[in-house]
Amino acid sequence: MTMAKIFCVANQKGGVGKTTTTVNLAAGLAKIGQRVLMIDMDPQGNATMGSGIDKRKLELTVYDVVLESASVAEARVRSDKCGYDVLGANRELAGAEVELVEVERREQRLKLALAPVAQAYDFILIDCPPSLSMLTLNALCSAHGVIVPMQCEYFALEGLTDLVNTIKQVHANMNRDLQIIGLLRVMFDPRITLQQQVSDQLKAHFGEKVFNTVIPRNVRLAEAPSYGLPGVVFDPAARGSHAYVEFAAEMVERIKKM
Ligand code: ATP
Ligand code: MG
Repeated sequence: MTMAKIFCVANQKGGVGKTTTTVNLAAGLAKIGQRVLMIDMDPQGNATMGSGIDKRKLELTVYDVVLESASVAEARVRSDKCGYDVLGANRELAGAEVELVEVERREQRLKLALAPVAQAYDFILIDCPPSLSMLTLNALCSAHGVIVPMQCEYFALEGLTDLVNTIKQVHANMNRDLQIIGLLRVMFDPRITLQQQVSDQLKAHFGEKVFNTVIPRNVRLAEAPSYGLPGVVFDPAARGSHAYVEFAAEMVERIKKM
């Protein structure tokens, strides 16, 4: 029996392409025959909406799961259009932070909840909020690896320090499995010299940890969420969609080495 590999998509910086990466990687993996569960760990619910699931109409969400009032099997829904399962989120999830304060082993809630469904999937992907909160900590404690999307901007490397330190701490104290599986260059524009330079710096610093696939800046990826779809489903022919399917194939190769 194979057990799902669990990855969170995290970067405490806002608007760097976490949600776009989560839903498009999920759709790309589904497209190449992988069984995928996508978990929205952000109260904004963008990954839920971007997978064609109306967050306002959900009866059960990841909130109920972390508070142990529902199982993953009860709370997940199928996105037929996207080809993967969704454990959704909405504003309610913001309350979990406070409600978990009283609870023992509160950072392990998601991990415990995922164990019973791990055999049903090849990949479980978790979209994190732009913070290093208890919600992100739950995602980090559940995961085998972290995918870090980043734009090749001037302060990109500096911004990584906090995240890298958090991952080290979680690895040392809470989750021995955790590692940075890779840095993903997103919204990339090769015509911008600075982006090329930062990309080269990234490779010099992180070597193998930088994914081969580069996600270009592509307007079709940005338009897709307003149709409630990942770009990979909305416009499979777009350059950005091709890149995410290629990234999915790279992930399948990477997990063979884990
Ligand atoms: P938050 O921190 O708020 O959760 P995020 O890290 O999840 O944000 P996204 O919502 O995925 O970031 O992306 C931010 C914006 O950039 C969105 O409008 C999205 O459509 C756009 N975007 C993401 N990736 C690309 C891309 N490769 N090309 C063009 N636009 C993109
Ligand atoms: Mg997001």
